[in-house]
Formats: sequence, structure tokens, C-alpha cells
Amino acid sequence: MKERISKLFNERFGTKGQFYASAGRINLIGEHTDYNDGFVFPGAIDKYIMACINVNGTDRVRVYSADMDAYCEFGLNEADAPAEQWARYIFGVCREVIKRGFVVRGFDVVFAGNVPLGAGLSSSAALESCFAFAMNDMFNDNKIEKFELALIGQSTEHNYCGVNCGIMDQFASVFGKKDCLMRLDCRSLEYEYFPFKADGYKLVLLDSKVKHELVDSPYNKRRQSCERVAATLGVKSLRDADMAMLEAAKDRISEEDFMRARYVIGEKQRVLDVCDALQRDDFETVGRCMYETHNGLSKDYEVSCVELDYLNDIARECGVTGSRIMGGGFGGCTINLVKDELYDNFIATAKAKFNERYGHEPVVYPVVISDGAHKCED
Ligand code: ADP
Ligand code: MG
Repeated sequence: MKERISKLFNERFGTKGQFYASAGRINLIGEHTDYNDGFVFPGAIDKYIMACINVNGTDRVRVYSADMDAYCEFGLNEADAPAEQWARYIFGVCREVIKRGFVVRGFDVVFAGNVPLGAGLSSSAALESCFAFAMNDMFNDNKIEKFELALIGQSTEHNYCGVNCGIMDQFASVFGKKDCLMRLDCRSLEYEYFPFKADGYKLVLLDSKVKHELVDSPYNKRRQSCERVAATLGVKSLRDADMAMLEAAKDRISEEDFMRARYVIGEKQRVLDVCDALQRDDFETVGRCMYETHNGLSKDYEVSCVELDYLNDIARECGVTGSRIMGGGFGGCTINLVKDELYDNFIATAKAKFNERYGHEPVVYPVVISDGAHKCED
């Protein structure tokens, strides 16, 4: 990719630039926990956005997207916002850097990537953190704190792209480290690295390619259930609750709310259990927790769908160590932890069976836990 970008950069701008990259992410466990002040457990992956950048001595940004074969030019004032969605991610990052009192000057850039778009691997966070990192390194002597770089990406989504996202994706993309997952406490924003050296295992995502559009805003309803139960239990959020408290209040909580809370409280514990297990390289426990999460999301939280449940069943039948929905649900990917020797059979079986039932194969994304935002050395 580097050669291709380098060549395109030279053809278009006649100079050489500096290379920066950042990555997409997976979340091993910790789903629907962020808005309950719980934990998430993401890691950056070996799918990334790479940009070649050079200052151009003007007050304008000239950017070529190699993947879209599209060019865009914009100034750095609020009124200069480009119309193209892909360019708004870059403009937004520049603006958010400037808004925080830091510097961005005109630059030329060619960028490309291999994070699948809209598949739940957060190509947008990869794009934002690549540019946030680059702006910090090129114009600000790396004076912007790393966490602020993640917040710059998040604000870009909020203020320039119309996506009201949490901090996990940008956090993972900025802080990602090879062979490490990161437990982020969504309440305190403290984080801790845990080794993830899954020798003998592969991580693979299966994209069902389905997205069920639901009419009655299921996310808001889930949030409301969680808030109601927290209020009934007299705690700030479900982070502060445990199963005993929930059981004790059972007759004051609707059956549906009870199920929602049971999932969230269980999930908080599962993230901690997985972190523990990883310190012993106990991947059997990790996998069991992933299946439990899937079950909870499917039966208690009710955010799965037949296609994802089917992929999960196939994983079980193939002896896959762990498998679960990744992301909000109602479609998208499963994430699977598979022993090397079972991998080929699992992929072939999943493709064939899923195709037979739903008329298309799931798309397969093997991933390796890798570095997040960084400058590429020559
Ligand atoms: P995701 O789940 O992958 O983050 P989003 O819809 O949030 O999905 O972000 C995808 C958008 O990010 C694309 O529509 C595009 O505007 C931008 N993007 C991501 N990767 C690239 C790329 N390689 N080249 C150009 N734009 C990209
Ligand atoms: Mg996104």
C-alpha cells in the first residue's frame, strides 16, 4: 500500500511526504456496556488507513482519496466544510485540532486503506485517528495528549459527520498496541493493557452482510430499561449493581427490564473474567465468556437476529472456542476465536451453510491485534 500511495502522491503533488497510519478495531467482549458505565475490551487490528502527507505552504488542504479515486480541496475555516462525506472526516479533525488551540497548516495528502467500510471495524475511527496523529506530529510537536486525539476523532463524528458515537472506537485506534487488548473503564476512562498472544488461535470476523432496520428505536429502549432498573435499585448506573441486588428487587422490575439488566450486569463481570483469564493464557475461559455474551445478547438483551444466531450455532458445531455478535446487534459481524487446526473447516462450513440458508456467503475477515496510530518509519 505504501508504494502505491507514494507513487500517487508524487504524480499528483510532485513532492514526497511523511507516512502515517492508524487502524480499525475489534471489541473482544463488553457490548452495550459503554452507556452503563461499564467496561469495553477493544484492540486495534491489522487493517488500517495510511496517509502520505506534506506541508504545502498555503492555508489549504488538498486531499486525494485513492480508494474512492476522488479529489477534494478545502480551507481550514469553519465555513470551508467540504460536501463530500469522506472529506468531512479529515476537515473535522483539522477543525477540532484548531478549536482546541492547536495548529493546522495547509497540507497535501494521498490516503488509502483496507478497513472494510461500514462492517463494524470502524474505518471512520481509523481515518480520524490517522489524521489526528499526523496533525499532532507535523504541526504541534506531539503536544496534544493521546486521549485528546481520541476525543478529537469522536468530536469529528459528532460535529461533522452526524454520528453520535462513544469513545471506544477512537480510543482503540489511537491507543492500540500489537498483541494487546485494552480494557477501558467507560466511567473513569482509565484503561489497562492486557496481553493477547493467542498462539495456536486465530481471530476471525464473519460479516453476515445483513442489517435489520428496526422501527421502534431499540437502542433507546434498551437504554431506558437500564436507566429504569438503575433508578429502582437506587444506583447511578448498572455499573454499581450486582446480581444479588437485581434478584432482591425482582418483584419491582418488569420482566423485560429484568432480562436487560441481567445481561448488562453479567457482561460487566465477563469482561473482568476475560481479563483475568488472559493473564493465564486461558483461552477456553475467554471463549466460554464470548458464548455467554452471545447468549445474553440474544436471549436477555434481544439484539440478535436469526442470521447471527445461525453463525453462532455453526461456530459451536465446528468446535470454535468462542463466538459472539460484535457491535450493537441486529446484523453485522460475529467475532470468533478459533483453534488453528479448526479454522479452515469452520470457514468452509460457515460459508456453505449460511449460503444455503440465506442465499449469500458471510464475508470473512481474519484479524491480528496490531498497533494503532503511528508514524511509519522509512
Ligand atoms: P465504519 O463502521 O467502517 O466506521 P462509517 O460509516 O462510520 O463505517 O465510516 C465509513 C466512512 O468513512 C466511509 O463512508 C468514508 O466516508 C470514510 N472512509 C473510511 N475508509 C475510507 C477510505 N479507505 N477511503 C475513503 N474514505 C473512507
Ligand atoms: Mg464509524
